[in-house]
Amino acid sequence: MTNSRNTLYGAVEAGGTKFVCAIGEAGGRLHAQAAFATTTPKETLARVADFFREAQVSHGRVAAVGIGSFGPVHVRPGAAQYGRIARTPKLRWEGIDILGEIARAAAAPAAIDTDVNIALLGEARHGAGVGYDDLVYVTVGTGIGAGVLANGKIVYGFAHPEVGHMHVPKAAEDAAFAGVCAFHADRCVEGLASGPALRARWGTDAESLAPEHPAWTLQAHYLAALCANLLVVSAPRRIIFGGGVMAQTHLFPRVRAALGELLNGYFDFAAYGIELDDLIVPAQLGGRAGVIGALELAHDFAAAK
Ligand code: ADP
Ligand code: ZN
Repeated sequence: MTNSRNTLYGAVEAGGTKFVCAIGEAGGRLHAQAAFATTTPKETLARVADFFREAQVSHGRVAAVGIGSFGPVHVRPGAAQYGRIARTPKLRWEGIDILGEIARAAAAPAAIDTDVNIALLGEARHGAGVGYDDLVYVTVGTGIGAGVLANGKIVYGFAHPEVGHMHVPKAAEDAAFAGVCAFHADRCVEGLASGPALRARWGTDAESLAPEHPAWTLQAHYLAALCANLLVVSAPRRIIFGGGVMAQTHLFPRVRAALGELLNGYFDFAAYGIELDDLIVPAQLGGRAGVIGALELAHDFAAAK
């Protein structure tokens, strides 16, 4: 008989460009892992099935599988469409029952959430959010997305939140920029401050913009606006930033300073024992957040059954 410490779980990080599958223990000790490109649903899910078949023969059966999926995806447990990919530009994936397919492939019960909620879960339990019940995890990469934890629970409404599409005021010096959001152009933070927005505005990839480039002052301003809006809505104790663009660590002090200016003294942080350095922080798990968070989801799902 296995005890809960070394019970095995499955993890799938279903991304728009690649899938990562793993078998491991809650807490992140991995026994097997594989990554492959996201292609058609049929081909990609067949590779997931191959992984779990072979890995379970070698390492043992998993109690449950946790999935962190690209969105939009129906993640509200109990909803009729739970586990299916929602309306998406990745048309081949629209309507695919990613949860059911993976559960069948692994021959195990499975639970699903968004990629950002899964990273949030990983950071909350094993990374930059340990010890806090009110957190936001924001990724700034190809898109901007976030998972919100309030009172220890991941926030859902009729759908998962879409923090990247919050509208933020455009800076005066940015008037000429058209923005990149397919739905909101230059009116939402993803349209103004995602990696592709930086590329479109400055004509070069974000990674080649020097720290002194004016791009970063503007970027810090937009990310501070996002933080200000998150703070007034759910008062998170920590906002954790990850994603490719946040590899520019000089952004952190700039975002904190710009946030202080935008809030203009509105929150009495000192009264809550909060410092800006401690409020706006980098993610700690990096690329591992997805798999670690998916193992946590699987663990919770198996424990609740
Ligand atoms: P994704 O969002 O697709 O999962 P990433 O989080 O790596 O993947 O985000 C990719 C985006 O991040 C690209 O727009 C890329 O230009 C940008 N990016 C990647 N590395 C860096 C870096 N070191 N500095 C700034 N931007 C980066
Ligand atoms: Zn948008």
